[in-house]
Parts: sequence; C-alpha cells; structure tokens
Amino acid sequence: MSDPFSFADELGPKKIIHVHNPSVGLRGILVIDNVAIGPAIGGLRMAPDVSLEECFRLARAMTLKNAAAGLSHGGGKSVLFGDPSMPAEKKEQLIRCMASTLREESDYIFGPDMGTNEICMGWVKDEIGRSVGLPAALGGIPLDEIGATGLGVMHACDVAAASIGISLSGARIAIQGFGAVGKHAARFLAEKGAVISAVSDSKGAIVNPAGIDVAALIALKAAGKSVTELPGAKAAADVVSADCDILIPAARPDVIHEQNVESVRAKLVVSGANIPMTPGAEKRLHEKGILYIPDFIANAGGVICAAMEYHGSTKTSAFESIEEKIRANTEEVIRQSSKAGILPRQAAVNLALSRLRHAMSMRRFALF
Ligand code: NAD
Repeated sequence: MSDPFSFADELGPKKIIHVHNPSVGLRGILVIDNVAIGPAIGGLRMAPDVSLEECFRLARAMTLKNAAAGLSHGGGKSVLFGDPSMPAEKKEQLIRCMASTLREESDYIFGPDMGTNEICMGWVKDEIGRSVGLPAALGGIPLDEIGATGLGVMHACDVAAASIGISLSGARIAIQGFGAVGKHAARFLAEKGAVISAVSDSKGAIVNPAGIDVAALIALKAAGKSVTELPGAKAAADVVSADCDILIPAARPDVIHEQNVESVRAKLVVSGANIPMTPGAEKRLHEKGILYIPDFIANAGGVICAAMEYHGSTKTSAFESIEEKIRANTEEVIRQSSKAGILPRQAAVNLALSRLRHAMSMRRFALF
C-alpha cells in the first residue's frame, strides 16, 4: 500500500480521504490538493483500476489548470472503483453513496470525468447540492455537448499558429480522437477555414489532404460508427506522423513519446487530451523547433465552463471567458518560453505557480 504522505510537498495535498461502504460495495478516494484560491473543482473518475497515485496526479493537474486559468477554485479529484458500464441503478447507488459520504467536504466540488457524465452530476447535486457539469434541465451548461474544451483548443491553435506565421484559414490539421474534445475542436477549426486533413478514433485513422467533411463525420459518429467508415475516406496508419501544420492529440495519454516523436511532421502541437506527450517527447519537440502548447493551458475550456456554471453564468459568457483566458494564457506561455529559453511546459507551470503562491501568501495556513 502506498504511503499517502509520499505525495506531500509544499503545495499539498491538503487532504486524502478513502471511502468504503461494504453494504453497497463502495470503494473510492478523494484527494483535495490545494484550496488556497478557493474550493477545489475536479472530476469524479470511475474505472475498475483507478488508484491513489492516479487520483493525486489528476488532483495536482487540476490545481495547476485552475490556477493558470485564473479561476477562483483550487484543485482536487475523486475516483470510484468500478466498471462505468455497470447497470445504471447500481452505478447511481454507488455514486449517491460516494457523494453522501463526502457531504461535509465542502472544499471539493464534484465534476464529470472518465466514466461519469452530466446525469451522474445530477445525482450528486440531488444528494449533496454541490456539483458542476450539470444537465441543462438543472440549470447546467452541458460542456461536452456545446464543445467548451474544443472551443478553447481552437483558440490556443489560433494564437499559437499566428505566433509562427500560420493562419488558421487553410492550415492543415490532424486530430487524434474524435470524441467530446476532438470533434468540437474540428468543428470550430473548420469554421475558421482550417482543413481537417487527418482524423482518428480507437478503430483507426483516415486522411484527406483536400479536407474531411466534419459535419458528415460528426453525423457518422453520432450513429455509433467509426471515422474509418466515412465514405470515400482513405485509411492511414496513424495521425501522429500525418503531413499537417497542426497536430491535436485529443484521446489517450502518452501517445507521443520518445519512440515516435521524430515522426511528427506538424509545425505546432496543441494538446487537447491530458498528458498526451511524455516529458521526453515535449523536450524533443522543443529542441526540433516544433512549438507545443501544454495540456492544462490548451484544454482548460471545460473547467472554465464548469466554474462559470457554478457561479450562475450563461453559455455566452462562458464562451467569452474561454476565449479571453485561453488566448491570453497561450500568448503568455509562448512569450515566457521564448524570453527565458525554457520549455513551454515550464513556462505554463511557472504561470500557474506564480498565481498559486500569491494566493497562498494571503492564507494564514497557506493551503486553507
Ligand atoms: P471521449 O471519450 O469523448 O473521446 C475520446 C476519443 O478518442 C474517441 O473518439 C475514441 O474513439 C478516441 N480514441 C480512444 N483511443 C484512441 C486511440 N488509441 N487512438 C485514437 N483515438 C482514440 O473523451 P474526451 O472527453 O474527448 O477526452 C479526450 C481527452 O481529453 C482525455 O484525455 C480527457 O481527459 C481530455 N479532456 C477532456 C475534457 C472534456 O471537456 N471532455 C477536458 C479536458 C481534457
């Protein structure tokens, strides 16, 4: 068993709680990392193989993401052991029990993550009155449906591309993953005149240098099919090495690594997914003169939208806020990276830490 104090450093975590209720088979963990800026917002992840370490790493990522985005929220995360495709009544019972057990932990606001969705957040809200990412029927802004994260990815692409002399209009884009993030990034980029030249999902990849019909692909996916079934599509081995201007990993972790980073042909990589590149791959891209925008800067649109929902905003103001924050942060990361000769990730971490440390300096006990 791992020692919970092995994760402790000057930023947190403030609290780690293991919850257990054998009457319903509940096993879960909550990590409240740092709440110097405000109560933590972070998703509830449900999977059979979650762990304390994963929960801590995700909670810390939220601390940095929320601080960088200038939200009035700290970072936290919760995990629930179980198969997310279990019968709905059983899943509801587990999630309600988890929420109820953590009722008094007002420093943590539940949000959706892998294995949970807006309906799950509706159950949490009903149980304890505290969650984000709610269905529209409960006054929520359905962030995956409207493409909050994909919108932010588009703005990060626009600012970063302009900094290296590329216009989005006519730029060739390759996207790995065509889910909540990838699909909407494709849609918003195509609206700006970009050419979506390669796309993949878990079943395979397709290319079309003249541009893939994004609306047709969205309809195909909505019908439960794979991108590989798009009529007239040409199959490809993968998108990491696609001939393109901008590459957007928007699926799994660690998909660009030391063994395939040399094959990247894009001039810019914008991370839609969380940790899609290993630290070694990011370093190598930088050495090769390929600009990349780190995950917690580029994919913060979802949590910005969630925080705005929590504070009673509308979709229109959430979209304005995503645009303003992600464009400003992307610019700042590029500027600091070039000025100080540091990796974009280091510049992004410095940006988040400067805000976090300032907040901590105003707290009597730093974290809370
Ligand atoms: P999703 O489940 O809606 O979509 C994932 C997509 O990736 C699917 O199209 C799936 O087929 C595809 N995929 C899976 N394995 C693949 C592989 N090996 N190669 C190519 N494609 C593959 O998930 P999502 O919500 O779009 O999240 C994607 C990533 O973005 C995750 O890392 C997630 O943590 C991160 N993220 C999501 C949000 C959000 O608002 N949804 C916000 C921030 C970060």
